[in-house]
Amino acid sequence: MNVETVSSGTSGLTFTDRVVELVSALARGEIERLVPERWMQSPVAYAYPEAARILGVAPGEEIATLDALEDRGILVAEPVTTVPICPFCHTYPLRVERLCRECGSTSVHRTTMIHHYRCGNVSPEETYRRDGELVCPKCDHVLRHIGVDYERPSGVWLCVDCSAVFDAPQLRYHSLTCGRPVPLDDVVDRELSAYRLSPDGSSLVSEGALRAAIERPDVTDSLTGLPNSAAVERSLELEKTRAVRYGTTFSLIGFGLSNGAELAERFGDEAVSRVMKTLATIARENLRAIDVVGRSERYGFEALLPETDEKGAEVALKKLTESAEAYMHAVGRDEAHRSAIISGEILHISLPESK
Ligand SMILES: [Zn+2]
Ligand SMILES: [Zn+2]
Ligand SMILES: [Zn+2]
Repeated sequence: MNVETVSSGTSGLTFTDRVVELVSALARGEIERLVPERWMQSPVAYAYPEAARILGVAPGEEIATLDALEDRGILVAEPVTTVPICPFCHTYPLRVERLCRECGSTSVHRTTMIHHYRCGNVSPEETYRRDGELVCPKCDHVLRHIGVDYERPSGVWLCVDCSAVFDAPQLRYHSLTCGRPVPLDDVVDRELSAYRLSPDGSSLVSEGALRAAIERPDVTDSLTGLPNSAAVERSLELEKTRAVRYGTTFSLIGFGLSNGAELAERFGDEAVSRVMKTLATIARENLRAIDVVGRSERYGFEALLPETDEKGAEVALKKLTESAEAYMHAVGRDEAHRSAIISGEILHISLPESK
């Protein structure tokens, strides 16, 4: 799939034009439903290729837009599948590793135990192998007939490094994108849905009000589709009011490209825009549904985290910046992504006043 070819064919269209075209295609019935298809190059293993084509983005990058359209009530989501993804880099390529329960080595393999009837020795088959024959390691007798001389009571696993024998190895994921080990229970479940036009979306199209609903320039950043700084500011005011009235806690964090200007110099504005879009997607993926994340400046974002104290904000910020770095710096990303430096800070904490 070549993105350049796709966008040059429909050059001159703004991203909003493309979103309008996508929703209109649903309204005209040319697309009945957007259904996720397995897609190796997408970070979450699925993509909506038709939506990606119309939006002029690489398959996988359209997902944030579909989520945003759902948030605004234009599309209805119907859950289809769940993909386990790495909690650090938020991509799906995960390899299952099998580990020795004793020493943690990954050099483990299946074998069988052999029970020598004559002397009663029970040990892995490897301990009996000598010059192409099975010879008992305890009594030195050659084993000839299974069922007569010996039996194989069970299949087991053997560690090559420490010779430990166990029934089943310990399992763990290994992220192929960022290289980190991931305990089985730590994977993030990314839910993927099919999307169809909502009744509200349908009315917007027939009333000719779709573009205005999508653009909402007063609230939406046109590059990333996230709320803009004014919208985040309004949410912040609201949250401050809530904090005073109900004694709730919230935090505000900021993050972004600390070398954005330098990247623009080296790779051009368009390349940096792509990096900013990637960062927007990672931020949306990493934060909770109740968090409000928006673009606050040219190379920066802010996120309002309700019900989050300083400790929680630190955790969220660390997770976010680490995910972003891991994703940006993974093998196969372009030079602009790989050169991106992500930084973040806690901007504000509101704690309930002690009485
Ligand atoms: Zn990873
Ligand atoms: Zn071992
Ligand atoms: Zn023996």
